Amino acid sequence: MSSSGGIQIPGRLPLLLTHEGVLLPGATMRISVDTARNMQLVKSRLLKGTSLKSTIIGVIPNTRDPDHDSDELPTLHSIGTAGLAVQVVGSNWPKPHYTLLITGLCRFRVAQLLKERPFPLAEVLQLDQLEQLSNSPDGELGELGERFYEAAVQLVGMLDMSVPVVAKLRRMLDSLPRETLPDVLASMIRTTNKEKLQVLDAVSLEERFKKTLPLLFRQIEGLKLLQKTRKPKPDDDKKVLSIRKGGVFPIHQFSLEEEAEDDDGDDITLLERKVKGVNMPEPALRVCVKELKRLKKMPQSMPEYALTRNYLELMVELPWSKSTTDCLDIRAARVLLDNDHYAMEKLKRRVLEYLAVRQLKSSLKGPILCFVGPPGVGKTSVGRSIARTLGREFHRIALGGVCDQSDIRGHRRTYVGSMPGRIINGLKSVGVNNPVFLLDEVDKLGKSLQGDPAAALLEVLDPEQNHSFTDHYLNVAFDLSQVLFIATANTTATIPPALLDRMEVLQVPGYTQEEKVEIAHRHLIPHQLEQHGLTPQQLQIPPHTTHDIISRYTREAGVRSLERKIGAICRAVAVKVAEGHKMSKQESSNHQQDQPGAEEKEAGAEEAQRESADLSAPPEMPILIDPIALKDILGPPLFEMEVSERLTLPGVAIGLAWTPLGGEIMFVEASRMEGDGQLTLTGQLGDVMKESAHLAISWLRSNAKLYQLTNMSGHPDPMEGTDIHLHFPAGAVLKDGPSAGVTIVTCLASLLTGRLVRSDVAMTGEITLRGLVLPVGGIKDKVLAAHRAGLKRVIIPKRNEKDLEEIPAHIREELDFVAAGSVDQVLNAAFSGGFPAAAAAASSPLTHPHLASKL
Ligand code: ADP
Repeated sequence: MSSSGGIQIPGRLPLLLTHEGVLLPGATMRISVDTARNMQLVKSRLLKGTSLKSTIIGVIPNTRDPDHDSDELPTLHSIGTAGLAVQVVGSNWPKPHYTLLITGLCRFRVAQLLKERPFPLAEVLQLDQLEQLSNSPDGELGELGERFYEAAVQLVGMLDMSVPVVAKLRRMLDSLPRETLPDVLASMIRTTNKEKLQVLDAVSLEERFKKTLPLLFRQIEGLKLLQKTRKPKPDDDKKVLSIRKGGVFPIHQFSLEEEAEDDDGDDITLLERKVKGVNMPEPALRVCVKELKRLKKMPQSMPEYALTRNYLELMVELPWSKSTTDCLDIRAARVLLDNDHYAMEKLKRRVLEYLAVRQLKSSLKGPILCFVGPPGVGKTSVGRSIARTLGREFHRIALGGVCDQSDIRGHRRTYVGSMPGRIINGLKSVGVNNPVFLLDEVDKLGKSLQGDPAAALLEVLDPEQNHSFTDHYLNVAFDLSQVLFIATANTTATIPPALLDRMEVLQVPGYTQEEKVEIAHRHLIPHQLEQHGLTPQQLQIPPHTTHDIISRYTREAGVRSLERKIGAICRAVAVKVAEGHKMSKQESSNHQQDQPGAEEKEAGAEEAQRESADLSAPPEMPILIDPIALKDILGPPLFEMEVSERLTLPGVAIGLAWTPLGGEIMFVEASRMEGDGQLTLTGQLGDVMKESAHLAISWLRSNAKLYQLTNMSGHPDPMEGTDIHLHFPAGAVLKDGPSAGVTIVTCLASLLTGRLVRSDVAMTGEITLRGLVLPVGGIKDKVLAAHRAGLKRVIIPKRNEKDLEEIPAHIREELDFVAAGSVDQVLNAAFSGGFPAAAAAASSPLTHPHLASKL
């Protein structure tokens, strides 16, 4: 805080031109730097410099050039203040700039400008150390100094001494050499920049005293006036003086305009009260108290002020000790789950067991439930019901695409724009510490250079660790042990293994057509009606229409697009109802003078109704959605049965695939042409599929004789002089997995024999080189997909027969299942009339070379 006091400034100084005020020796000022010249200076001198001298720069008030970023260097004010850059903060918002905290050391005069670019550099002459008041204490100067000191004491005396800044100022007055007082006080009291510039220009000490003394008196008068106009409320002084905690700028702020600032002082008191009131654990409280102390001392203009305040506000908003009381009643839970969700019996049963165990043990330790299934099958919705049955708050955390661990664990507060992670944010938004958190799409967590979010999530989910989960932003532990976590995923394949290990996977398969119809009528339609302000008296969707929507406008395992389609119907009907309502009102008012009939309108059911009823009321007859209305509203069907059309040539077979979105039917096409025995595969295949294709070809070649397979010119090796191209359409979808083996064999057998595969057969299963059919996964989803597509026969591996139990009885009845243990059986079932040689072999299995080798 002393002025030049012994400091020797360098003979050459880079010059910072500022519009933002006048820096005086002994004062500290914040300067925002955004012009090209000043930015250059900061970059090359302050950010690179290491020695003390390199952080001393010349600050020159730029009073003459409003267009301060122009290329020309403006005429420089000849006197400036050498300043020590105490702090440099960079930010990119709203545009790139630095904020410097600079303490003035002493005046200097620009002797010669050495260069202008990239920033001005000048040879300077240090002023301010020439006169020492103590050398002539008794002269006129000494007397001036004394008067100045007394006025300063009087000024400070009018302030509230209990405010630390004021007390410090009082002490400073005594300890500072008198000759520094004019500069220090001039920069504190309310002065204009012009007045400060005059003080800066007053190089001689005597002149400086004379210039500043009137300013000091003016401030004292102002204060007296202020004290008179303000009613002396007990807190008032404090309010006036709690302004500006920085110590260096305070006094010039008292004025009547400072109400806003005063409020801020109040805010901090309020914050302090809240910190004490939220009952946070000891370590968190300690941090808060420390931060509060820091906040009180900080000037508001400091960027850190806002940061610290935001931090404290978050800390008091967090539910450290707020929780809801669980009100679990298993019987009520069962009713609620049943009411909210149709079907999904297995899942509901497991959820109830889980809740029952929780209730008995009254602890939450245990595996985390993870619902795995295609989109739109009700995973999130079950999570929400669990929260409701427990009487807890619910919060969904979407993890899809999260690839930075700070998304989970927050950014450290040193980062610009740092914030807490999603867990802490979630707690803040639910306001209690025992919510149900649904970690949505854990299978879509990414990974990046910024660390592995799965690892952070592990910590969150681990009951041994999560009682002291430390978010980087908070930097104190928060107890997550009361939070009930539930996860959802489309597939377990991409869930990081360590995470999967912590979870109990519950499969939620897709729905059958009939289940979907039920779900639509029990849940989706009532819900959509309500959302669109309609009643069942206004809109009715009969079950056969729902069937049509499901089979011709959607192709999905869940019910999400079904719900959207129903929404679209509701919107269309809402318009009709609203129009009808308005029209009927108009009609009723025109009724007398106009003709009573309405022949120009086609006599639709609702019109007829409207005419006969009170015309001011909306139509009472429901609008019925029949196939014609459906087509009008939703447009032509998106999915017509294309299956049979595609099986009109040899070399096409239908396979069944499992994808994270549910089961799907998948066509396999093959063609052959002259060539040299090449196999070409197209359609986004993974390695396993490619291997399956090679296996299938090898198996067919080795059995060519048995099945009388030949190449195009009748050669016994079907690949002789032949190229084969296998294509898996819908090329944008990556297909992999071992379940296409039987389909490829069937497709190739069809190609090589020129016979058509039955158009109502779908199949799944992997093959071995020796012609065995091995079991595969996802049977239920696959069978449902075949059923959706209207197929009649499904060939599955023999060892998957047990999986058929999961399939609803009525679907099982509608389908003809063939459980095949070998490729011959597959071929036999896939071609109508059987596959010739296979038929012979099947009759005496033990003599069949392949079966014999298998046994
Ligand atoms: P997911 O989380 O599996 O993607 P959602 O839970 O978001 O699916 O479900 C989508 C919509 O389908 C929700 O409106 C939900 O209520 C409804 N839904 C799904 N399954 C059922 C069901 N079995 N019974 C009633 N509604 C269901």
